[in-house]
Amino acid sequence: MTQIISPFQILATDGKARRGKLYTKHGVINTPVFMPVATQGCVKALTDEDLRNVGAECLLSNTYHLFLRPTADFLANMGGLHKFMNWDRSILTDSGGFQVYSLSQFRKITEEGVWFKSHHDGSKHFFTPESVIEAEQKIGSDIWTCLDMLIPAQSKKADAKKALELTKRWAERAVKKYHSIVPQQIVKNEDGSFTVPHSLIFGIIQGAIYDDLRKDASQTMAKLPLHGFCIGGLSVGETREEMNFALTHTTPYLPPEKPRYLMGLGTPQEILDCIAHGVDMFDCVWPTRVARNGQVMTRNGKLNIKNLAYRNDTKPLEEGCDCFTCKHYSRAYLSHLFRCGELTSHRLLSIHNIRFLTRLMQDTRTAIEQGVFAKFKEEVDKAYK
Ligand SMILES: [Zn+2]
Repeated sequence: MTQIISPFQILATDGKARRGKLYTKHGVINTPVFMPVATQGCVKALTDEDLRNVGAECLLSNTYHLFLRPTADFLANMGGLHKFMNWDRSILTDSGGFQVYSLSQFRKITEEGVWFKSHHDGSKHFFTPESVIEAEQKIGSDIWTCLDMLIPAQSKKADAKKALELTKRWAERAVKKYHSIVPQQIVKNEDGSFTVPHSLIFGIIQGAIYDDLRKDASQTMAKLPLHGFCIGGLSVGETREEMNFALTHTTPYLPPEKPRYLMGLGTPQEILDCIAHGVDMFDCVWPTRVARNGQVMTRNGKLNIKNLAYRNDTKPLEEGCDCFTCKHYSRAYLSHLFRCGELTSHRLLSIHNIRFLTRLMQDTRTAIEQGVFAKFKEEVDKAYK
């Protein structure tokens, strides 16, 4: 298969860390980027307006969930997911391999695809690499991902190898299907930017925590006509050292001119570790999940608004934060809302936590541009010890 250009512009590097711009049919994504998770077409407790205000440039949705409910055909009839959820910036869809693995009580994997039962009503469905691409086309997302076969990071090597071989064969089929329905019309402009009239495709790299499997997966995916790469099978229970080890044997084998996205990672230290390995894109439900339990992220570490100490505290959640919550409300008020079980507290804390991560990425981009990323990473590491 012939290679294709990726609409990714690298503006600066510092060590392996990269500051770039990924162009999609719904605008520009500044990288490194944090993508809030809108699994079912909604980031929990937030509206599209909240997400624009916190500076989100790309959301992550899920093909498995949307395929089952409201269904890909329904979304196509509604004019696509962007229109349905009133979101005019980029959307990346995860293929659903992880959900088939983690949610479905029944799973039967064949060379052709995977049978699974809906976690809603037990109805039986079949995903193939081709049918997942078709579903993503109906959803209308900007970045599509290939169906992969996921296994736990600590799996035996023989099992990890088997899963990887199948993931590689499925990726070839997904890429073939993608190119049969999306003729490449990406144009590189004189200023280095790109015009992108159609959706992009990313492959998924597996290989658990085995160095030779990660290398093999990266080298195989690098040869396929893909616009970028998802690094999968990490952030599923392995240690920070194991994750760093796996990345050491992944990113050096990927073409530098294409973006890399590490799936399902969200704490500040983990994100900065990955950026130091040359990863560009991140997502995680963590900032909104912990917000609903009262946990707040700040540059000086975490705090929990349910703590008695905040009952009379007139300061904002984080001094210097420009989010809607910090601009208008005190810790005392938010503490009161939590004690009363007011749902608005979920929204207000989620706004802050997502803004915290989008600001962290903004500052990371600046640090890379100024050549001080290592020092910046060290400071963030210290705050979260
Ligand atoms: Zn804030």
